[in-house]
Parts: sequence; structure tokens; C-alpha cells
Amino acid sequence: MTARVIDGKAFAARIREEVAGHVARLKAEHGLQPGLAVVLVGEDPASQVYVGSKGKQTVEAGMASFEHKLPAETSEKDLLAVIDRLNADPKVHGILVQLPLPSHLNSDLVINRIDPAKDVDGFHISNVGLLGTGQKSMVPCTPLGCLMLLRDLHGSLSGLNAVVVGRSNIVGKPMAQLLLGDSATVTIAHSRTKNLAEVCRGADILVAAVGRPEMIPGDWVKPGATVIDVGINRITTPEGKTRLVGDVDYESAARVAGAITPVPGGVGPMTIACLLANTLTAACRANGLPEPKGLTA
Ligand code: NDP
Repeated sequence: MTARVIDGKAFAARIREEVAGHVARLKAEHGLQPGLAVVLVGEDPASQVYVGSKGKQTVEAGMASFEHKLPAETSEKDLLAVIDRLNADPKVHGILVQLPLPSHLNSDLVINRIDPAKDVDGFHISNVGLLGTGQKSMVPCTPLGCLMLLRDLHGSLSGLNAVVVGRSNIVGKPMAQLLLGDSATVTIAHSRTKNLAEVCRGADILVAAVGRPEMIPGDWVKPGATVIDVGINRITTPEGKTRLVGDVDYESAARVAGAITPVPGGVGPMTIACLLANTLTAACRANGLPEPKGLTA
């Protein structure tokens, strides 16, 4: 068997187009332009690239983009003051603080200062609680992107066995909550899980969010299963070049799986597309307008 390749790049482009269509209508019918503020503290090169592409795609979708680049030595007090200003600004519907923050700043404190209604990353404790109790919330972008891919592929996830490898607050845990919300039977695996290979072999849906290059081989995959590889790992090849690989050994897994996301081009592009979708949703909610269907959990 050769797995169907799930084209996250094309799917993300469709989401961005859909978001842009809604944004154009909001502007024409309600004079409303959704706005996303991204706060970057310090000069981490990877973070600068992420923030750059978030800003670019925000503008391409017709939204307002506000970038706040602060020096690495910014104090907690000053950063919280920036967030307070953004919370109070009616032109800003979404606020994202790029992580990781420099070590002298308390990420939890900073994230929990964001107005939960503007927390488009879905990391505020209120949104975590709302998601955990099955209530309307802002949903973390990467797991939301995975859910969209899975719904598109399967229609219903009801009763399917889903295994999520990884239990981080950013990916693993919210992913498991979303799968549970769609009535999958969910197992969360992590570094202490016994017989991980066996656990994975029971999965109709296998989500890998570990951060270990090609850790999951094809013989851990149930024939016909759907494999969603969240991992983004840069490795050096024997020729001395660098390339990106996932947490799944793509070649061997693609011979067994029914469908699989590649790295790059699978889950990665969905993350920013979902950030735009969340900003649109936040703008609609803030203005008492119906939120677009199919762009939230
Ligand atoms: P974390 O490091 O926060 O979490 C990794 C998880 O994997 C932990 O729960 C850890 O378990 C588990 N783990 C580590 N080693 C093993 C092992 N040998 N067996 C089983 N489980 C293990 O990572 P993130 O969740 O933030 O990210 C995971 C991956 O996803 C990374 O490659 C990251 O780059 C990528 N990512 C991609 C995004 C995208 O846009 N596509 C967005 C966010 C992340 P324990 O808790 O026991 O330590």
C-alpha cells in the first residue's frame, strides 16, 4: 500500500482564501477589518522568520497586522503594559506573543494577561479550561489545523482509535481534547509510556508531536491508518546538508499508512492558516456577528 499524501499546503491555501473572502465581506458589509497584533521579544532568528510570515499572510488575507518588536532585555512590567494596551485597542482582535520568551520573562504570566477573547493562540488558561470542558473557546492553531485535515479526510472521527504521541500544552493535550470532542477514543502517549510501539499500532489516527526526528517507524503504524506528523526537526544529512524531517519515518510509514502528512508541507502550513481563521473568529465574536462555519472546532 502507498499512503495518500495529505497536502497541507494546498489545504492551508484554501483556508486562507476562505478567510480572505470573509474578511472582504466584513469590510464591505460592516466596515470591520480584523486585526492581529504579534509581539516579539528579542532577536531569535527562527522567531523573526515566523513573525515575518505571520505578518505577511495577515496582510494578504486583508487583515490589519500590528508588529511589536521589543528588545530582548524588555522588563516584564513593560511587556505587560504593551499587552494591556493591545487588550484595550478596538482595532486589535487577536494578540499573539511569540514564544519562547527570553528566560527572565514568565511566559504563563504574560500569556494569561492577554484578553482571552483576543488569545488567538488559545494558550490562556481560560481557553484551556473552556476547551477541556467542551465549551466555545479559542483553539490552539496547530491542533486545530490537524483537526481540519482529519475532518476533511474522514468526515466523522466518531469511534476511531486516536493515539497522540506527546503531551505538551501547545500540541499534544489540546489535540487530544479536540479528538475527544469529535468522539474519537483517545490515548495520550509520552516519554514514560510503556510499549509505545504497541500503543501506536492500535491507532486508526496516529498524531506524532514529539520533536524527535523520524522516531516512529512504519512498523508502528497500523495498515491503513491516518498519520499526522506535527514534528518539525532540522537534521544534517551525511552529505552535510540540512533538511526538515518529521517525528515519523516518512518512507516506511507511507508504505503502510492509508494517508500521511509530509514534512514539510503537511501540518506546518495549517498553523498560520488557523491563526488567521482564529483572528477572523475573534473579530466576529467581538462584534456580535455570526462566526464563519468550518473555521473553528
Ligand atoms: P514538547 O517538547 O513540548 O513536547 C514533546 C512531547 O513528546 C512531550 O510530551 C514528551 O513527553 C514527548 N516525548 C519525548 N520523547 C518521547 C519519546 N521517546 N517517546 C514518547 N514521547 C516522547 O514539544 P511540542 O509539543 O512543542 O512540539 C512537538 C513537535 O512538534 C516539535 O517537533 C515541534 O517543532 C513541532 N511543532 C510543530 C508545529 C507546526 O506548526 N507544525 C507547531 C508546534 C510544534 P514527556 O511529557 O513525558 O516529556
